[in-house]
Order: sequence, then structure tokens, then C-alpha cells
Amino acid sequence: MSKTKLDVIQPGDDRDLYSGLIRLHVLHHAAQEPIFGLGMVEELARHGYRISPGTLYPLLHALEKKGYLLSSQQRQGKSMRKVYRATPLGKKALRAAKSKVRELFHELIEAKS
Ligand SMILES: [Zn+2]
Repeated sequence: MSKTKLDVIQPGDDRDLYSGLIRLHVLHHAAQEPIFGLGMVEELARHGYRISPGTLYPLLHALEKKGYLLSSQQRQGKSMRKVYRATPLGKKALRAAKSKVRELFHELIEAKS
């Protein structure tokens, strides 16, 4: 999770271009540890993606509906919060996506033009 120097993406700016990256980013973290909505909003902001909870929560729900994430309630002090973990299906999808990203990375960044 190294700090990158991306420009901050404002809502609406090229959002559809980055939405897949955001999904993969979410899946990546959910495969490593349980994630929760606001924590993920902060993590994405750290990487320069300004995404509101109102956008992220439906995205989490959609990934859960697809079977990539599984939510559960976790006690947080006196209250409960909803956390998400990647399912085996989600991890499999992430592995497949990684090879696509590697290929794209190679073409975008490393290949001689
Ligand atoms: Zn990250």
C-alpha cells in the first residue's frame, strides 16, 4: 500500500474509466483483511480516488451480490459495523484480473513505443 502521487479524481471526472480499478482495489484489500466502508473510502482517498460513501456502499453491495465479497457484522466498541471479506470466488476473480492488469501495465507503462 505505497503512497502514490495520483491527481485527486473529482466526482464525475472519468469515473467510469476508473471504476474497474476501484473495484479491483477494493477486492485486493478485502482479500487481505476485512474491510469496512469508511475505512475503504479513506484508503481510496489516500490513492487519489475521491469516492463518497454514497458511491462506495452500492459498489460493495454489488460486489457482494456478485459473490465476490461476503459481509458480516463486527463489534466495534458499543456498536456493530459491517465488514466485508473476499470470498474464494472473489479471490479467484482477483487472480484473473491481476494477470490482465499485469498485461495492461506492461503495455501502458513498460512497452517501448
Ligand atoms: Zn490500497
